[in-house]
Amino acid sequence: MDAENLVVVGSGPAGVSAARAYREAGGTGPVRLLTADPDPPYERPPLSKEFLRGEADLPPLDEELAEKHDITITLDDPVTELGEDSVRTASGAVHPFTACVLATGAEPVRPDLPGADHPDVRTLRSAADSRALRAAAHGVRSAVVVGAGFIGCEAAISLTRLGLQVTIVCPDDVPQEKRLGPDAGRFLLRWLKSEGVSVLRGTKLLSVESGHRVRTDLVPVLDAGLVVLATGVRPRIGLAEAAGLAVERGRIRTDEHLRTSKPGVLAAGDVALAYNPAAGRALAVEHWGEGLAMGEVAGRTAAGEEAVWDEVPGFWSVLGDRVLKYAAWGDGFDRARPFPRDDGGFTVWYEREGRTVGVLTHEADEDYERGQDLIKRGVTASPSS
Ligand SMILES: Cc1cc2nc3c(=O)[nH]c(=O)nc-3n(C[C@H](O)[C@H](O)[C@H](O)COP(=O)(O)OP(=O)(O)OC[C@H]3O[C@@H](n4cnc5c(N)ncnc54)[C@H](O)[C@@H]3O)c2cc1C
Repeated sequence: MDAENLVVVGSGPAGVSAARAYREAGGTGPVRLLTADPDPPYERPPLSKEFLRGEADLPPLDEELAEKHDITITLDDPVTELGEDSVRTASGAVHPFTACVLATGAEPVRPDLPGADHPDVRTLRSAADSRALRAAAHGVRSAVVVGAGFIGCEAAISLTRLGLQVTIVCPDDVPQEKRLGPDAGRFLLRWLKSEGVSVLRGTKLLSVESGHRVRTDLVPVLDAGLVVLATGVRPRIGLAEAAGLAVERGRIRTDEHLRTSKPGVLAAGDVALAYNPAAGRALAVEHWGEGLAMGEVAGRTAAGEEAVWDEVPGFWSVLGDRVLKYAAWGDGFDRARPFPRDDGGFTVWYEREGRTVGVLTHEADEDYERGQDLIKRGVTASPSS
């Protein structure tokens, strides 16, 4: 592929990184980055952390992108149609391309339960969502966060630090039990409690009344000033589906160069199900760093390079003042081996059929670094680790 005219759809890490990498790889011609977001490109992770707490401004994502790399950025104008060699936006503009990168990310899922779609019930994905959540937190005393994934846990801690009494409705016995195993879940539970967050374990949401009254199967009614749904995301594949691109497991299927089934069209970030040759299979990943890494591969591929996405996906979560680092293929394990340390740090090694497939660490950077190599080589960490 050697594009002469690149269109990038989406201003998250995958889109920004694709546009930048295209230029850095010598890609010529016009480059246009189109986004539905009204805010100039920004970093998403602080939206549940310091930005939500009002401790920091919105951190820009590559302020030099437009000027240094000669990229035209159009905000607040979603692409509505992907054609043969052009895209159409909501404003009616048509932009031709020889290569197009779809980096439309994912959007929060609201469970199909009574009241979950009430406008006062919040979700958290964009800067606008985070601003609205912070504004709503002023003047209320309590919040219910539904879901104990990383975004739910981070948002719950931030809201607690804003002075609210926060309860998490957690469907598993401990947070993220299915994803990270019971030992890691117990660490998370302890941290949430130490931050003053209450956790209703093994509890399912049944409905939300009037945007504020939460019914669960365990506690009949929780009345909260604020309800936040952190119940997972759905990749935004509408454009790709309508254009007939191959879609698998709810994501746009790509090869290791991030090329989709349609010549000239690539996909990167949360929206992609990309083949990773080091894993030997296609992976679905929802991490900031992977957005950047996949975007870079897509941009370089569009510029005609032989770039390949073969990294072990890595994720960091900041829970109050504690940092968790997780590197994993992310598609399951059959054994989790926890190694707590006296200083409060820990490592959990994840294996499948005797091979290391993941590592979770807190204050054990050497294991995190080593883990990425062990995962890539598919060997087991030594028992003393
Ligand atoms: C609150 C929060 C905290 C997070 N914290 C962490 C963290 O600590 N660590 C971590 O690794 N990951 C974190 N993540 C996940 C990480 O942010 C995502 O994995 C990453 O942003 C995905 O990047 P992306 O570029 O694929 O998509 P996104 O960042 O979602 O960007 C998609 C872009 O596409 C645009 N778009 C969508 N549809 C259209 C359209 N039709 N036309 C034009 N534009 C469109 C959107 O407006 C947006 O700009 C967090 C996510 C959230 C929401």
